Amino acid sequence: MDIQSLFSLEGKNAVVTGANTGLGQGVSVGLAAAGAHVYGVARRSCEETAAKIKENGGEFTEVIVDLSAEDAIAQILAKTESAGRIDILVNNAGIIRRNDAADVTEEDWDAVINLNERMVFFLSQAFAKTWIADGKGGKIINIASMLSYQGGIRVPAYTASKSAVLGMTRALANEWAKYNINVNAIAPGYMATNNTAQLRDDENRSAEILGRIPAGRWGTPEDMAGAAIFLASEASSYMNGFTIAVDGGWLAR
Ligand code: NAD
Repeated sequence: MDIQSLFSLEGKNAVVTGANTGLGQGVSVGLAAAGAHVYGVARRSCEETAAKIKENGGEFTEVIVDLSAEDAIAQILAKTESAGRIDILVNNAGIIRRNDAADVTEEDWDAVINLNERMVFFLSQAFAKTWIADGKGGKIINIASMLSYQGGIRVPAYTASKSAVLGMTRALANEWAKYNINVNAIAPGYMATNNTAQLRDDENRSAEILGRIPAGRWGTPEDMAGAAIFLASEASSYMNGFTIAVDGGWLAR
């Protein structure tokens, strides 16, 4: 067995949403290091991600699209057309809005659900349609959360959306496995990114969280690379509908 080729993404094209920073950057750098040409979708410039990938001799193309735009999916399809074929989709972009459940506004609820849940479904559908049509299969990696399993505190829309991501990953895998499309997810634990800046700034919450992580540290964007490469490669070709935790042992507690 050739281990290199089992995990190689040489010749593959990957779309990663939210590639400019945080976990999306970590995933992009990982996929590019394994040989993929990464098309990074973001609202803002992906300069830093591009520089990290080019440093390693990898390939990266920036795709500036606001995923809250009505025609976001059409824009992504048009702006990645030059790739010829996209083989891997990573639904990473996501937002979190913190508030007491009693005070959550409809606007915040809708913004979170639209990006974290609705967009994950319809972007997956858009690429899966092309993969079903050409019969060559594909890989979808959704980014779930510890709140796909737990209730969380003051983030009810986020918990609802990430619980939906776990369920949707199973539902889509059931329908698309027969087309050689692998739909799986990664559930990151508590990672040091913008998403958790407020938690880390709160001394008590930060100490509470850290004290519960068996690995004894917050995760990093780099920690995402291994699971992402695995789920994007042939190594995971008989994995369908599963969510892998990359959490320093949080769920094991
Ligand atoms: P982050 O806030 O640094 O990154 C969020 C990404 O989403 C950014 O690239 C941002 O530009 C993008 N994004 C947001 N709204 C967008 C829009 N309208 N159009 C295009 N892009 C948009 O946080 P992160 O931690 O890197 O989050 C990445 C994913 O990981 C999210 O889905 C998040 O829910 C998930 N996650 C994070 C943690 C953690 O501890 N940091 C844990 C579990 C899951």
